[in-house]
Order: sequence, then C-alpha cells, then structure tokens
Amino acid sequence: MVDDCIFCRIADLRIPTELLYQDHQLVAFRDIQPVAPVHILIVPKKHIPDVLHLTNTDADILGKVYEVAAELARCEGVAEDGFRVVVNTGPAAGQSVQHIHFHLLGGRELGWPPG
Ligand code: 5GP
Ligand code: ZN
Repeated sequence: MVDDCIFCRIADLRIPTELLYQDHQLVAFRDIQPVAPVHILIVPKKHIPDVLHLTNTDADILGKVYEVAAELARCEGVAEDGFRVVVNTGPAAGQSVQHIHFHLLGGRELGWPPG
C-alpha cells in the first residue's frame, strides 16, 4: 500500500468507487475519463508501479487479470465484437498513474496501430 497512490486508495476503498469486480488480488472499476463506450480499469491491489516491475511471483495476478477481463467483456456485451486490453508503460505510452492497471476497451471500432 502506497499512501499517496490513487489506485492503492481506490483498491482499499479509501476513495469510494463503484467496483465492478473485487477479490483478494484485484479490483475493477470504470475509468473516470472513458475513451470508449466500455472503458474499465482492472487493477491489482498490490502496488506494482508498471510492467517493468513485474516478477515471476506476480504470474497468478496476471492470469487472474485476463480471466476477469474476459468475464467483464462478456458482461459488458463486447466479447463477441471484440475488445482490447492495454497496459501503458512509461511516458511515451502515456502512463499517468504509476500503479499497474489494465485498460479494458470496447464498444467501438478500435484503430490499429494505436495512437
Ligand atoms: P494511464 O494513462 O496511466 O494508462 O491510465 C490511467 C487512467 O486512470 C486514465 O484513463 C484516467 O482517466 C484514469 N483515472 C485516473 N484517476 C482516476 C480516478 O480517480 N478514478 C477513476 N475511475 N479513473 C481514474
Ligand atoms: Zn498503488
């Protein structure tokens, strides 16, 4: 838990946020500034700053992230048309919160390559 980290604070419910999913490892909630009709953030409770800080011991968290992403995609009705799971890492990718999070995006055509 990092005291001044916004996603740590959401994950431990100190910032009240409607959670779409939660278990002992993860929370999921809607992005405050959605860029697609479905824009959900899947956030490990553990404070991992970014992809560069992942280790082998986080493998089960990552497995769970994708399981939850698939489940939420089905619940939100975007599984059939298609969706994207995105992790921005570092300034060139536009990472703005230094606590690892997985964007689940869907509900519109998603351009490729991403901007
Ligand atoms: P990044 O730019 O780091 O990949 O993504 C951070 C995301 O977190 C952004 O899409 C931003 O809108 C979202 N975000 C930042 N602060 C909050 C917040 O307090 N609540 C919610 N629900 N989303 C947030
Ligand atoms: Zn954090």
